[in-house]
Amino acid sequence: MTDLADLTIAQAAVGLRAQDFNAVDLLDAVETRAAFTETHLHAYLTLDREGSRHAAEAADTALAAGDPGPLLGIPIALKDNMVTKGIETTASSQILAGWKPPYDGTAVRRLKDAGAVIIGKTNLDEFAMGSSTENSAYGPSRNPWNTDTVPGGSSGGSAAAVAVGSALGAFGSDTGGSIRQPASLTGTVGAKPTYGLVSRYGLIAFASSLDQIGPLARSVPDAATLLEAVAGWDRMDATSYHGDVPAISRSLDAGVAGLRIGIVTELTGDAFDPQVTAATNATIDRLSDAGAEVVEISLPAIEYALSAYYLIAPAECSANLARFEGVRYGLRVDGSTTEEMMARTRAEGFGPEVTRRILLGTYALSAGYYDAFYGQAQRVRTLIRNDFATAYGQVDVLVSPTSPTTAFEIGAKTEDPLTMYFADICTIATNLAGDPAISVPVGLDDAGLPIGFQIMAPALGEEVMFQVAAEIERLVEFTARPRLATSTVVAP
Ligand code: GLN
Repeated sequence: MTDLADLTIAQAAVGLRAQDFNAVDLLDAVETRAAFTETHLHAYLTLDREGSRHAAEAADTALAAGDPGPLLGIPIALKDNMVTKGIETTASSQILAGWKPPYDGTAVRRLKDAGAVIIGKTNLDEFAMGSSTENSAYGPSRNPWNTDTVPGGSSGGSAAAVAVGSALGAFGSDTGGSIRQPASLTGTVGAKPTYGLVSRYGLIAFASSLDQIGPLARSVPDAATLLEAVAGWDRMDATSYHGDVPAISRSLDAGVAGLRIGIVTELTGDAFDPQVTAATNATIDRLSDAGAEVVEISLPAIEYALSAYYLIAPAECSANLARFEGVRYGLRVDGSTTEEMMARTRAEGFGPEVTRRILLGTYALSAGYYDAFYGQAQRVRTLIRNDFATAYGQVDVLVSPTSPTTAFEIGAKTEDPLTMYFADICTIATNLAGDPAISVPVGLDDAGLPIGFQIMAPALGEEVMFQVAAEIERLVEFTARPRLATSTVVAP
């Protein structure tokens, strides 16, 4: 019998409805998986055993009453920068150690309303700043495909949990690639929605003009189901999109015949791992064979995307993180004056990468430099947005690798922030443009590590984006599972 922890969300929903098992059985299977894998992975910071048990029992009652929604009784993990009422929420920072929020964020509340079972809170790079989860103040997470390697970041804990089966689905946040890059490195599906599609209320802010919550799952339809549960206008977020939610899962079976697909010229070349390039090209060939019209598209301003991002994101983070001063939340280190207390609290509470970003951002915003740095970066952002708009006049979606490499070894990039920043070369531009993008697994490299493929679409183009992703999933048939997941199968 299949271990219930290995089911997709869609399969689990069918089993629950058929009463093959109940929501408590499903939670038991996932917790049993976590009990073994967590000692290797550290995907979770907090497991909410009591809350998840109650939610599973409530789901079983609701299931008995009939008419279940697609997430009723499904065990889901949340990145620990999503605010959860009464459950410690740290964003992997010492400065928030012990903080139990008095409210649920909007996405969290919508998931609870849909009957999802929140298993726990997953590890991330501190305040979502990083690409490997090594910047967590509570220690790194590891990749279930090879525990000497990183699961990517910053949503590395969510990605590792989904990959290994200690959650059936998860949510992360994506400011410059933090859902898609870990999805790529762990063989999972990860989507960053159009900016404004998912409320940021209750997402601990990193860079407010870029941050978006989005799903990680083991299949494209599962990712669509998760996104549908949280998408839509929210009066608590002033940047929330007020129009109709795109029909995210309407065209999952529509195929790609007649679609125009653009390969981004700038996201190929020597800087990319040849095995990543080969898998990307093979996927493009399959799309072409399946009837898509494939062309090359140049986005010239993408060359400046990383530079612009590393001014805009730190500038916004320096403003957002000013609220952590030892008075209202978490850590306080005493001093003889209020100023000294705040300085000591921030010096001890923030880790090195967060400190670097705050310093960079504060400098970029300071009088006399504002226009040269922040202003210039905003102009580049406009150029990038224009490049995408021009491209989408010619094609339906754009494609590229998700990450220039597969999972790298723990410690390999920690000494040099710039090589770490390069991990997001393929993902950052869509955040600057505000557009959606998704990563789907398309193969393994020689070392048995997953390779991800990125599909980008115009703003509110989630329908066609998921359409292409679903077709790739069918064409590629990526069924490999990480060794850690397959070595733990236990019959219930
Ligand atoms: N790795 C990028 C950074 O460090 C993106 C992070 C993210 O998307 N949250 O800023």
